Amino acid sequence: MKINVIGGGPAGLYFAILMKKANPAHQIRIYERNGPDDTFGWGVVFSGKTLANLRAADDVSHAEITKQFEAWDNVDVVHREEKISIHGNSFSGIARLKLLKILQRRAEQLGVEVNFHAEIHDVEALRNDCDLLLAADGVNSMVRLRYAGQFQPELDSRANRYIWYGTHQLFHGLTLTFRENSAGVFAAHSYKFSPTTSTFIVECDPQTWTRSGFEQMSSEETLDYVGDVFAQDLNGHKLLSNNSKWINFLLVKNRRWFFENVVLIGDALHTAHFSIGSGTKLAIEDAIALAESVQQTASVSEALTHFEKTRRPVIEDYQAAAFESMRWFENAGQYMHLSPIELAYVLMTRSGRVSNEDLKRRDSEFIRRYDRRDSF
Ligand SMILES: Cc1cc2nc3c(=O)[nH]c(=O)nc-3n(C[C@H](O)[C@H](O)[C@H](O)COP(=O)(O)OP(=O)(O)OC[C@H]3O[C@@H](n4cnc5c(N)ncnc54)[C@H](O)[C@@H]3O)c2cc1C
Repeated sequence: MKINVIGGGPAGLYFAILMKKANPAHQIRIYERNGPDDTFGWGVVFSGKTLANLRAADDVSHAEITKQFEAWDNVDVVHREEKISIHGNSFSGIARLKLLKILQRRAEQLGVEVNFHAEIHDVEALRNDCDLLLAADGVNSMVRLRYAGQFQPELDSRANRYIWYGTHQLFHGLTLTFRENSAGVFAAHSYKFSPTTSTFIVECDPQTWTRSGFEQMSSEETLDYVGDVFAQDLNGHKLLSNNSKWINFLLVKNRRWFFENVVLIGDALHTAHFSIGSGTKLAIEDAIALAESVQQTASVSEALTHFEKTRRPVIEDYQAAAFESMRWFENAGQYMHLSPIELAYVLMTRSGRVSNEDLKRRDSEFIRRYDRRDSF
């Protein structure tokens, strides 16, 4: 089978690995516009369950990935000078660049042709030259745009702004920090992903953003302003920029997932708000589901039908949970009157996927403390 892949992110690389592993005779080419060492952002997180899926799909890359991991089991909520820790949540963090390097190496070892600095403009030519064209070209997918009439995308640019920084302050656990100043409320999502660095994503509503005056600020002024808001949490460390800019989260859905021999995957197909930290997980698990569909069916058309049929309910479920979580952060200002323990509780249950019983199982001491809150 001849497969062309646009995009050498987690989705494109992982699909290529699984297909080549299943049948070395497949001819697979990846076209990636960036170089092998370019990336945006800092770290990504995986849950324990995702790691088990990665091990089952490809134990070689799984072993490499887990060697580089920073693991933790606590979510920390910081509000009004108090930190509440909730244990029993298994997560690991890895630098996005490290993850990509591992997947690039594995793909090349297996004989996948990875072409860097190869930006695709003529999708039609590429699709006519293969049995299957995988559009793994990310959230602003040009393939989705080129065939918008076929895919019928639904794009929803959300009002909140966020910016993705790093820092050498180490946050041991997924840390959600809330700080207020005269402009409004800022939320930071942070976690350590290497022995020296943490991801530090800051989010605020549009009113807070405007009142802060970010529109007129340079990148350095923005970095200093945000650093001041979280000065107590950063403990003297600076925020680190990776060409970081304020962005609006783009919620992506598509009425149709494929047509003829073209299929969308990963962020090109769907997004889920970063507050549930699962974009890379979903991209990789799409790749696993699609590779399985190809192996279980006799033609590309059957494979793509099977992929959409089995994967769509899983994605819709995730997007529903992520939507609740995103809405919570969009309305974070409404919850600032809560005590730290109450805020931690509503945060943990915000997506509707974690119940009181789940929390009791994960961290009974946290629930005991929450239940006793009125007696203080
Ligand atoms: C602030 C923020 C925080 C996040 N945090 C997490 C997290 O903690 N955990 C997590 O799992 N996920 C996280 N994500 C999401 C994660 O980054 C994405 O979901 C994931 O990278 C999707 O993988 P992908 O392969 O579909 O797309 P991408 O990783 O975006 O890869 C697409 C690739 O296609 C290439 N490309 C695009 N157009 C072309 C073209 N025309 N020709 C050639 N190449 C092209 C791009 O250069 C890129 O390399 C976060 C995202 C954001 C914005």
